[in-house]
Amino acid sequence: MSSNFAFDAIDLATKDRDHLIHPWVDLGTVKEREPLIVAQAEGAYVYNVHGKKLLDGIGGMWCVNAGYGRDEIADAMAAQARRMAYFSPFGQIGNPPAIEFAHRLTQHTPGDLKHVFFTTGGSTAVDSALRFVSFFNNFHGRPKKKHIITREYAYHGSTYLTASVSGKPADRGNMDLETGFIHHLPAPNPYRRPEGMTMEAFCDAKVKDLEDKILELGPDNVACFIAEPLLASGGVIVPPEGYQKRTREVCRQYDVIYISDEVVTGFGRLGHIFASKNVFDIEPDIITSAKGLTSGYVPLGAMIVSDRLYSTLTDKAGRGQIFANGYTYSAHPVSCAAGMANLDIFEREDICGHVRKVGPYFREQLGTLIDLDMVGDVRGSHFMVCVECTADKEKKTVPPAEWEVGRRIFEKCQEKGLLARPMGHLVVLSPPLIVNRGQIDDAVSILRQSIVEVTGDLAREGLR
Ligand code: PMP
Repeated sequence: MSSNFAFDAIDLATKDRDHLIHPWVDLGTVKEREPLIVAQAEGAYVYNVHGKKLLDGIGGMWCVNAGYGRDEIADAMAAQARRMAYFSPFGQIGNPPAIEFAHRLTQHTPGDLKHVFFTTGGSTAVDSALRFVSFFNNFHGRPKKKHIITREYAYHGSTYLTASVSGKPADRGNMDLETGFIHHLPAPNPYRRPEGMTMEAFCDAKVKDLEDKILELGPDNVACFIAEPLLASGGVIVPPEGYQKRTREVCRQYDVIYISDEVVTGFGRLGHIFASKNVFDIEPDIITSAKGLTSGYVPLGAMIVSDRLYSTLTDKAGRGQIFANGYTYSAHPVSCAAGMANLDIFEREDICGHVRKVGPYFREQLGTLIDLDMVGDVRGSHFMVCVECTADKEKKTVPPAEWEVGRRIFEKCQEKGLLARPMGHLVVLSPPLIVNRGQIDDAVSILRQSIVEVTGDLAREGLR
């Protein structure tokens, strides 16, 4: 693979620093640190610009679910681009891949979630869902239903509205966000539950948080509750058992729309195309999807709405009543062609079945890292897992940001051939769903060794 590498790494790094603005980049260090430039990929591996092979423990960004180098997806995209690269989706104009893909998706959705609105990614899927809820309530003469309930440590996107609904404290610092009608409940994070509290009592408390907030605001004023089934970017937080189902019931009881944000949990990461019904036994009103929807080959997102909500609009609307929300690249034919080829692979290779089989092994192997001095918690499910490092394991103290624990581990892992994702003092693994037991063993053993070395370095530097 490295023999046909024809990249000038120094030239690229210079141009990168001078001209390319990266999302979530540390502006204080961007000029002095070497960027990681990834140039090629195959299966579960990527190659950096020097030709070094790295096991992709991140799955791109929780998204390259079917793995890299799938000619089938690339060919489907190329064929569609040649046939018809683009046409407007506005009004009642369609294209075959979008129509067929919408139909195929609804064969995997729970309950009556039968109406698909394609977007350009996850943020626009969630933004569309929130705007749809507002449209729906206004349409039905309930303009007071404006308040959105969400959770701390949620991540729902990077538009003004979806960033406002997100709740990672680290992301909110210098940003102006909407606060008037958005309410963050404490995260349902069992690791941080009060000392001595049982999981059952913790679950009761977190469900009560939601009910109390609805009652405090008044059910007539609450539009929706939005929740990732497992909170992904906030640190792979796995709510206590039964939480999803019980919060769904609370929403039903008070006529609050339930949005399940499956941008990460969907498309096999938890062993099913959609986790809401199959893993958590809930039928949401709206599901949002992206990432694994095309395995990251091309941008695409989707908001999928229940017939119960959508048909009340089409059955009652008078002429000229329009849901004025959409994008030039909504229902993009090339993206939808990629989505269908991706779904073909999922169905033919039973990728979800593989995740259900191998996922518990992954979680079990990662769980062995809990014996390390610095590791306070290992959590997650199937192909979304995370290790939380501590300054003091007993007291569960978060290490000071200046220690840069996550970044140090990321760098050690990289030296040894693994890409892991640092998030502050957490390290996340969310590999392509095709990884086998041997690759899982490699990832866990590299991560173990890296954490051991970083622990030693911190001690040598007198920090820990
Ligand atoms: N929702 C969730 C749960 C996500 O994890 C993300 C992205 N990490 C988004 C929405 C936003 O998706 P995108 O980055 O494709 O806009």
